[in-house]
Amino acid sequence: MPIILRIDVDNPYGYYSFPKKVLNYFSTNYRRFPIRYDFLGYLAQAKSLFHTLREAKIPATWFFRVQSRPNRKFQQELLSSGHEIAYHAERTASLRYFQDDLQELSKNLPTPILGYSKHGSGQLKLSKYHTVEYDFPSLIKLGQEMNLRYFTGNEEIPTLEPLQMGELQVFKGSFWLDENYRDVVRYPITWLIEAASKGKTIVLLTHPYKWVYSRKEKEDFQTLVEAIDDFQTFSSIIS
Ligand SMILES: [Zn+2]
Repeated sequence: MPIILRIDVDNPYGYYSFPKKVLNYFSTNYRRFPIRYDFLGYLAQAKSLFHTLREAKIPATWFFRVQSRPNRKFQQELLSSGHEIAYHAERTASLRYFQDDLQELSKNLPTPILGYSKHGSGQLKLSKYHTVEYDFPSLIKLGQEMNLRYFTGNEEIPTLEPLQMGELQVFKGSFWLDENYRDVVRYPITWLIEAASKGKTIVLLTHPYKWVYSRKEKEDFQTLVEAIDDFQTFSSIIS
């Protein structure tokens, strides 16, 4: 069984310079006036990660917010390279919002979205419209109501076995590439390499803006890419 590379696309512009911070703020907090222009660097970090993965022939599942969704060209590039597009749910306080955002994200996609993850793990309010709570039972219910096929959770324990909850397959925990969200003593990078060699199914989670700017994350990721030969998308492994 494979390592599943999960990429949560949180911030369309990142926040490593003042202008990018401003663009990021407005594009994620003002839904009516989206700022999604390639020439301003929209999704530049996600594209940089994508090009690296494409060269390494590694497929991934990309979870987009409505405010970080890819334009048609990037969508096509992802799909034609064997990547999957999924839903990074932000407004999870009601089924209506959850459904509206899923529909918005699904526009122009040739196949339905099958899976979702939750933006934020319950501590911080991350944007104007963000539902802070990470309420596992209600998140599961939302996905089941929308007939989604899988949910990938934010728990920081990568060994939690996948669960079947009705029609929904649930991957509760992830191996966060970000060391701030991982017990690095118990789960160092070498642990993941060994788990992969034993055939375990583990979700490896990263974020483009961190991947671009954190040298440590980049190095760790490179180590994993060189050592692991079986990466798959969620859609290719769900039963
Ligand atoms: Zn997120």
